[in-house]
Amino acid sequence: MVYKGRFAPSPTGPLHFGSLITAVASYCDAKANQGKWIVRIEDTDIPRIYPDSEQHILKCLDAFEFESDVEIIYQRNRLDLYHAAIEQLKQKQLVYACECTRKMLGSNHIYLGTCREKHLDFTNQAIRVKVSDQNICFQDRLQGQHCSNLITDLGDFVLKRRDGIINYQLAVVVDDYLQGITHVVRGADLLDNTERQIWLGQLLGYPQLEYMHLPLAMNAQGQKLSKQNLAQALDIQYAPELLSQAISALGQPSIEIDQPHKMLAQAITQWDIRLIPKGTEIQRIFN
Ligand code: GLU
Repeated sequence: MVYKGRFAPSPTGPLHFGSLITAVASYCDAKANQGKWIVRIEDTDIPRIYPDSEQHILKCLDAFEFESDVEIIYQRNRLDLYHAAIEQLKQKQLVYACECTRKMLGSNHIYLGTCREKHLDFTNQAIRVKVSDQNICFQDRLQGQHCSNLITDLGDFVLKRRDGIINYQLAVVVDDYLQGITHVVRGADLLDNTERQIWLGQLLGYPQLEYMHLPLAMNAQGQKLSKQNLAQALDIQYAPELLSQAISALGQPSIEIDQPHKMLAQAITQWDIRLIPKGTEIQRIFN
């Protein structure tokens, strides 16, 4: 099997234990399948970049002894590629300019296509991609079948914001394709984004990927560990202990605490996705 996986953190805050679980799972799954594993920094959303978090990501990768098989790429250096994809969709009239502000949309989370037929000029407007009235379903390797109706569940979605920022949905799809990614392993908080990404990939003529969405580590308040609720930054001083905890949070046999690269090597030989806790949450408390 050809396998190329990736770990794609956004530097919107320091890495936390939930990020470590994703890094470990994506790495072990790739290596257990004789695959390649790469790191990509998803930094298109400039206003949300958190000072020093990129440094922290790189320090953690080093301390946990994860090695990207190709040089790490930074999405902020690849904006031309995302614009080219928008251009490709423009040629086929699959995108349109949208002047709706967040205020105008109010509490409506699903965009109803207000600007679809307005044929606005693209300059200084958001760009949305059209969706059609169809179900997109995929078989997640852990979560089973997942489906969304593009119109009723999702609506036409933004690829480029009015302020010029390229949306995550577009950048992730373009880069997964250009980097030859075959398998995506990431947190279940991104499960509901997958149908949008599959749709976009179809419009751009890209092959479909395999997905595995991991259960999320929760804090004592029952919230998923995230930058928003200030999950503790990974402390590289405790790299071996944290690595061992992440491996056991993934339901894998425990390993002796040693140097991270030896621990990872052992985790790869023991890797068994049938042992990963079922569902979208890991029922243990993490900080
Ligand atoms: N950059 C995203 C994040 O940090 C992950 C993207 C992905 O794995 O598809 O949440």
